[in-house]
Amino acid sequence: MNMQLFSRIVACCLLLTPFLATADAASCLLAIDIGHDRSAAGAKSARGKPEWFFNNALARLLYQRAIEQNLQAILINPSGASIRLSDRPQLAQAAQASCLISIHHDSVQAQYLLPWNWNGNALRYSDRFRGYGLFVSGKNPAFAESRKIAHDIADSLLQNHLSPSLHHAEPIAGENRPLLDPQRGIYQFDDLVVLRQANMPAVLVEAGVIVHRDQEREVSTPDQQNKIVEAILAAFRLHCRRQTPS
Ligand SMILES: [Zn+2]
Repeated sequence: MNMQLFSRIVACCLLLTPFLATADAASCLLAIDIGHDRSAAGAKSARGKPEWFFNNALARLLYQRAIEQNLQAILINPSGASIRLSDRPQLAQAAQASCLISIHHDSVQAQYLLPWNWNGNALRYSDRFRGYGLFVSGKNPAFAESRKIAHDIADSLLQNHLSPSLHHAEPIAGENRPLLDPQRGIYQFDDLVVLRQANMPAVLVEAGVIVHRDQEREVSTPDQQNKIVEAILAAFRLHCRRQTPS
C-alpha cells in the first residue's frame, strides 16, 4: 500500500480513543476489526440479514465497553468501507495495537442449508450447528500469545455456559480445520489473512451461527452480547498483564 492511500485509510477507517495521541499510550491496545464490510457483507442469516450488521453491532459494543473500562481500543473500519483484508492488520499495526480481535458471525456449508419462508421471503437456514468458534493462525508471529488469548476468551465463554461449535473440523470440503483445543472450540486456520498478516497476536471470533434460526435471535440479545464482549475484555486484560513486565 502506498503511503498516501494508507494515510487516507487511516483517516477514514480508524476510530481512535482520544488519549491515543500520547507517546506511550499504545503499549496495550485492543484493535477491534469489524468483519467484512457494507458491500461485501459476509454470510446471510436465517432471516436474511447480512453478517456485517451483526459484526458491526457486537464490535461497537466491545469498543464502547473497552472505553468504559479505561482500556485502550480502536475500531477498524467503522464506516464499513470496502477495504482489503490486508488493510485491517496494517491499520492495527499503524495504531500500534498489541492485540487484534476480528469479529464475525458464522455460517455452515451450503449442503446443510434448507429452504424456508420467513416474512414472505424465500430464505435458507440450518439448525444443525450452533455455538461460537475461535480461530488463530500458525503463521502469525505471535502464535503462542494468540492461543493464550483465545484460550482465555473460551474459558470465560464456557464459564458463562456458552458452547463451541466444532463444525469447522468436519472432514468435508471447505472445512477440515484442525482443532487445537476441542473443549474450548479453538481452531488453527493458518491462512486467514487478517490473522496471518497481523504483526501482533490476533484472534478471529465467530460469535455464533446466524444461519441457525434460534441462534440468530440469541446473538442479538444483550445477555449474549455482554457475555461475548466481557469474555474478550477479560482475555485482553490478561494479555495486558503479560505485556507488562512485573
Ligand atoms: Zn465472517
